[in-house]
Amino acid sequence: MKIREIEAKSILRKYRKIDSWFLSGYGMNLYRGCTHNCVYCDGRAEGYYVEGEFGHDVTVKINAIDILKRELDPNRKRVPLKSCFILLGGGVGDSYQPTEKKYLLSRKTLELLNNFNLPVHVLTKSTLIERDMDILKSINDKNRVIISFSFSSADDKTSVLFEPGVPVPTKRLETLVKFKKQGFACGMFLMPVIPYVTDKPEIIEQAVKAAVEAGIDFIIFGGMTLKQGRQKDYFMNVLRGNYPQLAAGYDHIYTENQWGEASREYYHSINQTFFTITQAYGIPVRIPQKLYNDMLNENDRIIVLLEHIDYLLKMKGEKSYYGYAAYSVSKVREPLSTIREKLDTLKGVGPGIKKVILEILDTGRSAYFEKLSACKN
Ligand code: SF4
Repeated sequence: MKIREIEAKSILRKYRKIDSWFLSGYGMNLYRGCTHNCVYCDGRAEGYYVEGEFGHDVTVKINAIDILKRELDPNRKRVPLKSCFILLGGGVGDSYQPTEKKYLLSRKTLELLNNFNLPVHVLTKSTLIERDMDILKSINDKNRVIISFSFSSADDKTSVLFEPGVPVPTKRLETLVKFKKQGFACGMFLMPVIPYVTDKPEIIEQAVKAAVEAGIDFIIFGGMTLKQGRQKDYFMNVLRGNYPQLAAGYDHIYTENQWGEASREYYHSINQTFFTITQAYGIPVRIPQKLYNDMLNENDRIIVLLEHIDYLLKMKGEKSYYGYAAYSVSKVREPLSTIREKLDTLKGVGPGIKKVILEILDTGRSAYFEKLSACKN
């Protein structure tokens, strides 16, 4: 393992539009590279330009906290940060990978967020996050925190093979239960499920059941991408070594799409499996509205709800223009309440979607969304 220390020029990344999966408008990568070394990790793909040998080498942005202090300080900003969760996690390196024990960048980032009174959504696969329960609790008491863990399944044996550097799912779930007991909102990101290995209905149901039993607030689901080059070569090598009979099926679903996506039919089929199971268990498949409704500005609240409706309609096999409408709304600079009469000039906003937007503007809620999600959240 090689550690490379670098000085970064900036840390906080502002998204072009609110991310309705994480409810975040800002994210950051404190580390590049990840010794968790998940076999499917797309951080290995050439397009991310992660230096060194992925899974072994890590680049540490040693000046991250000084820079973040400047980037987060409201007194130093011409335009204030918008109100939403700041995402700590994701990207090309887990914020709680072992290197964090020495460098403490995630802990110090949380201290800054706590000082500046900012909400945070943490996504990790590591139980090391328990170390920072104290600061997270302080943020959660004053503001809001979501703790999410990602899983490719709830099966410990499969995890040992595909996620060799992280605690097994049973341990991750135990950590989530500890956070739940302390009053945190918690999520499961069941992604990526591994084709023909963890995408079977009984394996998906095992994960959903475990999440429900742990009292988790929502599950977000996604399939795997496999980009040509280092990511695909590495993954297929491990797959062939352990499940040689499954390799041919991958040629069938991964047909060299430039983003490494599997076929639409495949994603549709696993999404349907997941959706049917979660409907039966009654667990939300998007972050519940009660966790963000009072936090977002009106345009962002509308974007999120339109995208959530879009997702639910597609899961139900229906055609939807809600995603397109959400994209149009994301281009509008003024508050939507100031252009109420002109809403139908936005691309993708027909009379039905306009009515939904007006209802959200007037009440903060959407009866249509609540009906679709079949749970009042
Ligand atoms: S924990 Fe996340 S970033 Fe790290 S190797 Fe696994 S998938 Fe990649």
